Amino acid sequence: MSRILSQININKVREQFPILHQEVNGKPLVYFDNAATTQKPQVVIDALSGYYSGYNANIHRGIHYLAEKATSAFEASRKSIQEFLNAPSSDEIIFTYGTTDGINLISNTYGRAFLSEGDEIIISTMEHHSNIVPWQMLCEEKGCVLKVIPISDDGELLMDEYHQMLSEKTKIVSVVYASNALGTINPVKEIIDAAHSVGAVAIIDAAQATSHIKIDVQSLDVDFICFSAHKLYGPTGMGALFGKRELLEKMPPWRGGGEMIKEVSFDKTTYNEIPYKFEAGTPNIADVVALKTALEYVNELGLENISAYEQELLAYATDRLEAIEGLKIVGKAREKVSVISFVMDGIHPQDIGVLLDQQGIAIRTGHHCTQPLMQRFGIVGTSRASFAVYNTKEEVDLLVEGLAKVKRFLL
Ligand code: PLP
Repeated sequence: MSRILSQININKVREQFPILHQEVNGKPLVYFDNAATTQKPQVVIDALSGYYSGYNANIHRGIHYLAEKATSAFEASRKSIQEFLNAPSSDEIIFTYGTTDGINLISNTYGRAFLSEGDEIIISTMEHHSNIVPWQMLCEEKGCVLKVIPISDDGELLMDEYHQMLSEKTKIVSVVYASNALGTINPVKEIIDAAHSVGAVAIIDAAQATSHIKIDVQSLDVDFICFSAHKLYGPTGMGALFGKRELLEKMPPWRGGGEMIKEVSFDKTTYNEIPYKFEAGTPNIADVVALKTALEYVNELGLENISAYEQELLAYATDRLEAIEGLKIVGKAREKVSVISFVMDGIHPQDIGVLLDQQGIAIRTGHHCTQPLMQRFGIVGTSRASFAVYNTKEEVDLLVEGLAKVKRFLL
């Protein structure tokens, strides 16, 4: 057993995820759909029910015991995200419904307020739809121009082309840190610095990155970064956005309602300070509180240990899958998170997914919300196995055996 394996103690990790201990179609569950969402450790499940059974109350405005307890747990979560991302202050952390919501918030506030006709927005070929469509909507409304950084056949950004695209017209560069469909880790520091050199703001979609890569928003000097709790062992439907104070302060609010105001009258309403200016209505308190627990869980294991272990799994799985005749890995970047997308000669990805499911193995098939990326490779979709800290080499072996059965059945 390697040093990292013993450091993490994989059996102990697996014990903490109750969902893993079940049979699917008569076989032990192998969960390889972690890029879609990770499973939740018992501590996170307990944090959710602990809130509802112990101190459920609305936050910020109440003066009673439960309201104060809920408020302080809610704000403690904001602080833990600040520390997780090394943000300068917790005011710069806005709670959202997730990465999609964060990007929509930026496009609807910063984008609508500060971009105008002819301005350019740069994204990349490997973006998730959530980092494409909000910008297309903005371009339609404002007459801006969307430019797309091309990629190589290995699934890496063509950085020379990116540098050439930049000009004084560029106002926003918004790029994914790690691709959900290919696993590619992008050179985000270089992307951010180059965006700044022409006066553009840089946005990073960190949905896939947070569970694998240590993020330091100050050393990256990133303007905005968005992530989702559910890809980080936390609850679904919530996440956070980091934005630099000077940008958040000058941005108009987006959703109107309670909490985001200072004072309301029919003549004039004034808005709250950041972060509350962007948090209208009663938030998802239980999930916010549970995200803090998820971050503690990740910190306890150590992101570096998690990542080192996942890289071992990635290397092992890559070797084993590549040895299968007729299987081709899509996306062979030099730096990847633990995601493997593949196609198999003569077999539709959906059939692979269905037949593996019959063997208790959960993978994702299809376009992975990256249809333009699939178009770039001239394919309808891929099969994707993505690994988290609780996966094992034995499970990879089961996947390989499962794929052999798929071939025997269909070819
Ligand atoms: N960006 C990337 C790279 C993703 O993988 C995902 C989810 O799969 C998203 C954005 C959207 O995340 P959410 O659905 O949690 O808003």
